[in-house]
Amino acid sequence: MTALSPPLQAPEAIDITALTTAARLLVALDFDGVIAPLQDDPSTSTPVAESATAVEALAALPGTAVGYISGRDVAALKDLSRAPARALFVGSHGVEQDFTGLAAGGPAGAPATTSAGSPDPNDPFRYSAAPDAGERALLERLDAEFERITEATPATGYGELRIERKPLGATFHTRGCSPERAEFFTAELRRFASAHPELRSLTGHDMVEFGVRMHTKGDGLDTMIERAQATAALYIGDDTTDEDAFAHLADRQDSGFPGLSIRVGTADTRAQARLGSTDDVAAFLTRLSRERAAHVGG
Ligand SMILES: [Mg+2]
Repeated sequence: MTALSPPLQAPEAIDITALTTAARLLVALDFDGVIAPLQDDPSTSTPVAESATAVEALAALPGTAVGYISGRDVAALKDLSRAPARALFVGSHGVEQDFTGLAAGGPAGAPATTSAGSPDPNDPFRYSAAPDAGERALLERLDAEFERITEATPATGYGELRIERKPLGATFHTRGCSPERAEFFTAELRRFASAHPELRSLTGHDMVEFGVRMHTKGDGLDTMIERAQATAALYIGDDTTDEDAFAHLADRQDSGFPGLSIRVGTADTRAQARLGSTDDVAAFLTRLSRERAAHVGG
């Protein structure tokens, strides 16, 4: 077995000096696989209790903002994360944004932003610009593709292809399917992706996502850093789609912006550090909130 690079570290072993001492810190977190253990049914995801407590403690500290950056749509993310009112959200891999948490008393030292008021919960595009005609046609194409692949499901094996519709895309999940079915679905989805380069496609844990806009979690992290007026940032993710955020943060670090990127799990990564599990993330965030509180006062 080859050694992991970066190596797995204990939550207390990672150097967090740049985070604890920052004037305005952004703690940016992926949700699934980082704060909540991965579930076969994504609608049942729940934060690890210790992480939820640490997120709340961090968000209450002076000069500290907390944000979630997820592939999920913002509405689902808000429901599942049980995040504090001050939390910021980027959903659908960067396409959707909700920064009203800044107006709820965000990081000390950052000017209050004006809120557009509560968005209409019946408007599916309340966190993004509505799709144009071309984008709407692509969304319909995704539905048609889901029908086509579902009808072609092999008779052998078990498990169904599931679709999670998002305001500007759709995610196709193969989690819980037998290997032969998962392989069939994935091959069909890959074929569809290569035939439609106008769709942004991302492959993650047992899923393929298609978006009608070309945003990534890296774009979402950039916007969140700017809106929070952060002078340093942490990003923790567990999936291939988080690599874009690690890369954007590394670019900033190359020009002197203090940051720390952490990947959860054992896959190849360009993150600087690695943690083993959602429980390790909980211990890490608890330590960060304690040490930052000691620095900035709680
Ligand atoms: Mg994840």
